[in-house]
Amino acid sequence: MIIQEDLAKQYLRKYGVLVPEGSAANTIDQVRDIAENLNNKVVVKAIVPTGGRGKAGGVKVCRSRQEVEDFAERMFGSTLLGHQVDTLLVEETVTIHKELYTAVHLDYLTGMTNILFSLNGGVDVESNSEHIHVLSFETGADLPVHRIKIFLKRIDIDGLDSDKLSLLLATICRLATDVDALLLEINPLAVLENGKLTALDCKLEIDDNALSRHADFLEKQRQELPEREARAAQLGVSYVPLEGRIGVIASGAGLGMATMDMLNQRGLTPANFLDTGGGISEFMLQHALQLVLEPDGVDGCIINLYGGINRMKEAANGIAKALGETGEKRDIVVKILGNQQEEAWDILSKIPNVHVIRVFQTETAVDKLEELLRK
Ligand code: GDP
Ligand code: MN
Repeated sequence: MIIQEDLAKQYLRKYGVLVPEGSAANTIDQVRDIAENLNNKVVVKAIVPTGGRGKAGGVKVCRSRQEVEDFAERMFGSTLLGHQVDTLLVEETVTIHKELYTAVHLDYLTGMTNILFSLNGGVDVESNSEHIHVLSFETGADLPVHRIKIFLKRIDIDGLDSDKLSLLLATICRLATDVDALLLEINPLAVLENGKLTALDCKLEIDDNALSRHADFLEKQRQELPEREARAAQLGVSYVPLEGRIGVIASGAGLGMATMDMLNQRGLTPANFLDTGGGISEFMLQHALQLVLEPDGVDGCIINLYGGINRMKEAANGIAKALGETGEKRDIVVKILGNQQEEAWDILSKIPNVHVIRVFQTETAVDKLEELLRK
């Protein structure tokens, strides 16, 4: 999960790292108010979940109210690096003496956490990558400040205050560990005229597998999801909206992919795909089916389930309940095999618009749906 720059900076601030004063805005009026409070000497930045905004024209240092308004008007609603701009960050400007680069990231290959540091930060850091120095430490461990000092000693940090810098690096390591970050990047870490180190930018990505440890991030992620995906997440299933006409439910992503390939081969385009995962219950299947049938233009549905751990009687009862409650008449083809298959077939065969497939081949289910829709 990517954490927006303004929230990431709040974390930096909480941990004692200097960040420019300012806040995020969603309307021109808000931008105007924030800029006014900062005497209109502000930098305005488009908040999009990717780097390279400076080079793409999404960051502007402004000197007057007019400049702020013109830039904000141009940015709101525009597309930057493939993302629509809904939020702008308005911050006091600073005079940059030098731009450093630093990041803490989890190395997937070694499982270690790396600190990256370069004296050549800023928007061209990628082309200066040979100047990036790396210090690895054990993920989750407390990195002693003296190890960072030794690391910095090997680099000619040319006039920078080594004590301050190593404390700052230790602090962001602590933060990265505390929030289970995959990446915490500060670029530029600006050295100001007075020698102070200020984080002008912050990219923070949290490990989704650790979200259960962070109720605030989890809540935020739910709020950011579109309405149907959010309901799916609450049900404990994943839901992907697509553009076609067939609702698809499968008990696993692989089974779902194969089903969608076969549908597409016959010109039956999926309207969505819902993966139940391993926790099928009557309640889950009832709401899952109602969810996939809900979007406009869904003509029918295919449900492809295999019961290993999942109990298929529960699934069948859920399907029956979903259709019974709404008086649903569209054709639903259900291929159910495995644990409690006979009980499931019994329940489903009593529902007129449900067509039960009792063989192993998904093709048979897709053929059946094609035949029903041709009528
Ligand atoms: P990115 O390109 O998406 O990483 O966006 P950044 O937030 O890092 O901004 C890009 C560049 O804008 C930085 O590298 C700085 O050179 C410049 N910049 C950002 N804030 C200020 C500021 O307050 N004053 C000045 N002079 N430049 C700034
Ligand atoms: Mn940056």
